[in-house]
This record gives sequence, C-alpha cells and structure tokens, in this order.
Amino acid sequence: MPQNLSMFSLAGKTALVTGANTGLGQGICAAYAAAGANVIGVARRSCQETADKIKAVDGNFTEIIADLSDINVIPHIVEEAGKDYSRVDILVNNAGIIKRCDSVDVTMEDWDAVVNLNEKMVFFLSQAFAKNWIRDNQGGKIINIASMLSYQGGIRVPSYTASKSAIMGLTRALANEWAKYGINVNAIAPGYMATNNTQNLRSDEQRSEEILSRIPAGRWGTPEDTTGAAIFLASDAASYVHGFTLAVDGGWLAR
Ligand code: NAP
Repeated sequence: MPQNLSMFSLAGKTALVTGANTGLGQGICAAYAAAGANVIGVARRSCQETADKIKAVDGNFTEIIADLSDINVIPHIVEEAGKDYSRVDILVNNAGIIKRCDSVDVTMEDWDAVVNLNEKMVFFLSQAFAKNWIRDNQGGKIINIASMLSYQGGIRVPSYTASKSAIMGLTRALANEWAKYGINVNAIAPGYMATNNTQNLRSDEQRSEEILSRIPAGRWGTPEDTTGAAIFLASDAASYVHGFTLAVDGGWLAR
C-alpha cells in the first residue's frame, strides 16, 4: 500500500462487529477483513455466509453467538473475544431492529425490544470495551450505526426514531468523555439501504416509490456503500475525528 494510504489500513487490528450475519454488518465484516483486520462477528445465529466472504479474502473470522436483547451477555462477549485475540481495537455497534406501527398502537413490549437493543446495548457494550481501553491506555475505535432517523422523525417508527436519535447524542456524549483516552467514538448514518431492515418498506410500492424519488442518487444503498466510511472511521486516518455522525445516504439529507 502506498505510504499515504497506509493510514487507512486495518492490518494487525481486531474488530468486533455486532449483527454480523447479514446486511450492513456482514458488509462491514467483509470490508474490514479485506482491509487487513481480524474480525469477530457477534450474532444470534450462524454467520456462515460472512465467514465464507472473509475466507475468500484470506481473512480471519471468529463468531460469537449471543442474543443482544439481553444485557447480561456482555461479559460473555468480552470474554469470548479475549480468547482469540489479546485485544479488540474496533467495536462496531451495528445490530438493530425496527418495528413499524402507528404510534397509538405501540406496545411497551415492542418499545423495550427496540430501545434495549438499539440503544441500551450500544451504551453498555461500548462501556465494557472502553473500560478495558482506558485501563490499558491504548485507545480504541467505536463506530455506532445511526440512521436518517437520527435526524428526522420518520413515519410509524417512534421507538426506532427515539433509539437512533439517542445514538447520535450518545456518540457525541461518549466522544466528549473518552476522546482524551485516544478513543474515537463516531457513527455512520446510513440512508435507505436494501437489507432485511427495509424489506417491508421496499415491498410497499407507494412508500418505496416515495422514498426512491427523494434520494438524489436515485437508488437504494447497498451494504457495500457503507464500507468506505466504516473503514475510514476504524482507521488511523480518523484519529482526530470525534463524536461525528457521517451520513452515507445517497444525498437524502442534502435535500
Ligand atoms: P438487518 O439486515 O435486519 O440486520 C440487522 C442485524 O442485527 C442482523 O444481523 C440481526 O440478526 C441483528 N440482530 C437483531 N436482533 C438481534 C439480537 N437480539 N441479537 C443479536 N443480533 C441481532 O438490517 P441492516 O439494515 O443490516 O441493519 C444494520 C444496522 O443498520 C441496524 O442498526 C439498522 O437499524 C441500521 N440501519 C439500517 C438502514 C437500512 O436502510 N437498512 C438504515 C439506517 C440504519 P438476525 O438476522 O438474526 O435478525
């Protein structure tokens, strides 16, 4: 790699990515492996497809099966991650769910499911790794996956909007506390991407057309579209970038 591009290399780094079996998480895992990182994928079911993609670029992949709706799995994740690698350098809080429903009909159970995974888990998993990084004085990178609904209200997704708006605030709050320890906390706000998360939206012809006609790039995003930002924020090139949420949205927010 030319010297001026070596700052983007992840060689020798270990990245832990949640929600690694599909969608954006899978894309980020594959991109990190291609950039030289060892990758640990956390998911509630097999990451075989991700493992195959990483094998294709001669990368190292370990999976940890864990249901991230339960905060008590955190010690297990930290312990398992420590078995293969002396330290995790990069944490990507990607796992997330969305529940579409009129606000007047949202149940407390659905509200808690979304907020516990999308917001509470992100905070406490970040805390668990940051504690180690502060103790070891070696810094680290946290990349949270935010959303257009970190900026906007959305329609029929109040718990998701609340959780993703919280992610943008949390990204700033943690950066303010942890930048002095060499920990970079940043976020990526994907636009409308073709993954399981948007399957229902894309199946609704009217909503799909409304969304597509508003995206300046004129197409839905793909998991690959988020990977450049994910590599940048995980790399030495982003050492002085703190608390920022970078939109990868085909221009959606520019309108
Ligand atoms: P996705 O294909 O539905 O992927 C979500 C990932 O989270 C899957 O791996 C899923 O596992 C995992 N997950 C869900 N609940 C979990 C749990 N309890 N424990 C462990 N893992 C769990 O959607 P995606 O689009 O790639 O979403 C990735 C992130 O991007 C999410 O935070 C999402 O909110 C965000 N995002 C997506 C879009 C978009 O347009 N697609 C836009 C903005 C932000 P399973 O496969 O087992 O469900």
